Amino acid sequence: MANAAQVQRMSRLMIKTLRDDPADAETASHKLLVRAGYVRRSSAGIWTWLPLGKKVLENVSRVVREEMDAIGGQEVLLPALLPKEPYETSGRWEEYGDLLFRLKDRKGADYLLGPTHEEIFTLTVKDQCTSYKDLPVILYQIQIKYRDEARPRSGVLRGREFHMKDSYSFDTTDEGLAQSYALHREAYEKIFRRLGLDYRIVSAVSGAMGGSASEEFLAPASAGEDTFVDCPSCDYAANTEAVTVKVEQADGSAHGPVEELDTPDTPTIESLAEFLGVPASATLKNLLVKVDGEIVAVGVPGNREVDLGKLGEHLAPATVELVTAEDFVDRPDLVRGYVGPQGLAGKAFRYLADPRVAPGTAWVTGANKEGVHAKNVVCGRDFEVDEYLDVVVVEPGDPCPKCGTGLKIDRAIEIGHIFQLGRKYADAFELDVLGQNGKPARVTMGSYGIGVSRAVAALAEQTHDDKGLCWPREVAPADVHVVAAGKAKQTELALEIGDRLGDAGLRVLVDDRAGVSPGVKFTDAELLGVPTIVVAGRRAAEGVVEVKDRRTGEREELTVEEAVARLS
Ligand code: ATP
Ligand code: MG
Ligand code: MG
Ligand code: MG
Repeated sequence: MANAAQVQRMSRLMIKTLRDDPADAETASHKLLVRAGYVRRSSAGIWTWLPLGKKVLENVSRVVREEMDAIGGQEVLLPALLPKEPYETSGRWEEYGDLLFRLKDRKGADYLLGPTHEEIFTLTVKDQCTSYKDLPVILYQIQIKYRDEARPRSGVLRGREFHMKDSYSFDTTDEGLAQSYALHREAYEKIFRRLGLDYRIVSAVSGAMGGSASEEFLAPASAGEDTFVDCPSCDYAANTEAVTVKVEQADGSAHGPVEELDTPDTPTIESLAEFLGVPASATLKNLLVKVDGEIVAVGVPGNREVDLGKLGEHLAPATVELVTAEDFVDRPDLVRGYVGPQGLAGKAFRYLADPRVAPGTAWVTGANKEGVHAKNVVCGRDFEVDEYLDVVVVEPGDPCPKCGTGLKIDRAIEIGHIFQLGRKYADAFELDVLGQNGKPARVTMGSYGIGVSRAVAALAEQTHDDKGLCWPREVAPADVHVVAAGKAKQTELALEIGDRLGDAGLRVLVDDRAGVSPGVKFTDAELLGVPTIVVAGRRAAEGVVEVKDRRTGEREELTVEEAVARLS
């Protein structure tokens, strides 16, 4: 008896493939995942995973789970519906602004749908771990996350509801944190390799946070929303969420290091907040401040829209003028530097000419169309201004700093992100354990995310061809797609071979649909993208089938015996 769970008959599968692209779809993954019946749009940025899509999603989750378990991660499941208070404690109730889905319960208490779970994991460990002996701990979950993205687009690439693997490490020492981070980095490499994704690891923030404190895993793809610098010959890759910004001073030199400006009129967080009528802890977006004709760009985390005009009035209009991030993007020549949120507390900086930076070259900065480092500045974290010296300077074709080959500037999808958080959340929630010396020791944390549903779309982007999806075996919804191309004889043979492959442990999809032409079945098989296609057709009566590789198109006629032996 065939392993029924492994053999899926298409006559019994809920699937409706489409010939035409959905009208609103721009990216290949969006078009193909919808057309092949893997996902169905429910509402903007919110998707239903249909039977085959759910299998792919599960396969990605399984790989992630196995590699997380392998580094000692313990799987948990936290609620998605969360009370406001912990997010108030961390400041993110405000900081997240419009990105947060907020709701009230029947008693009027505020809740949110979790966009990421640092707060709740910190509280969980505070409750469960009391001694240094209980650490280190790595906890993870694979869960649905909610973010009210401004531009949900590209299908499941950017959802408002999406699946994420998020993990969190808890250590008592900096060395411990570095090790937990390294473990994750290795696990992520294994995961993305196993999934069959082409990826690069890049430092997530230019300069501001430095080195290995935060890295992103990027999957090169034209549909990606991130821009990065990539060496075609070696593993050099740099920076993310970046646009290349030309910065040039009047004298033609480019900007380099920063200098603190002596500007008494520089706004303080209090003066900004007072005038805006928002609490001092509020977060602002897309502000650039011009002082005495010099732009000092102010990158502030969060999404709160503010009345920029008002601000100008208040802050001595003769010397301070506000412009928006759009001005920044369109007029990069204006840029004279920027300050992070700490800078708002009374400091402004300006870049100085850096002799190492050739005039007219581009800086890859953390700026993007939505703001200036708005996403990357980790709130509450002090950074050394000197670190801006690390900014990478490139234009396409510039020599790679490692091997000299001409660099490319490419688009990519952010599929993973790893962070050494340090003690930010531990401080906010006073997460201590009893130290070895008998005194309380403050815990240090890391947080690590993988976009599980996004990875499905990223794979579709990277692996599809003009005929349809083309899954790597590890994530494919089946190993073999058997097509019954003909009448009763062909169907009988297709089911027989399907059963035998199922018995051999393969996952099989058998297209036994009656009244569907062979041509339509072939087209669907290409569209669905299962790695091996077996056709029971013309020579079915002789017990001969055609075995075809979906990717290469190579085909071969084999007897059933040979085919089963070959494929199992
Ligand atoms: P992005 O820059 O694309 O908005 P992010 O930096 O905001 O992503 P993180 O907070 O780092 O995302 O979340 C961890 C991972 O979750 C990301 O690396 C990405 O793979 C995934 N992810 C984030 N937002 C979405 C989304 N809206 N839809 C699908 N996956 C997402
Ligand atoms: Mg985001
Ligand atoms: Mg990002
Ligand atoms: Mg990120």
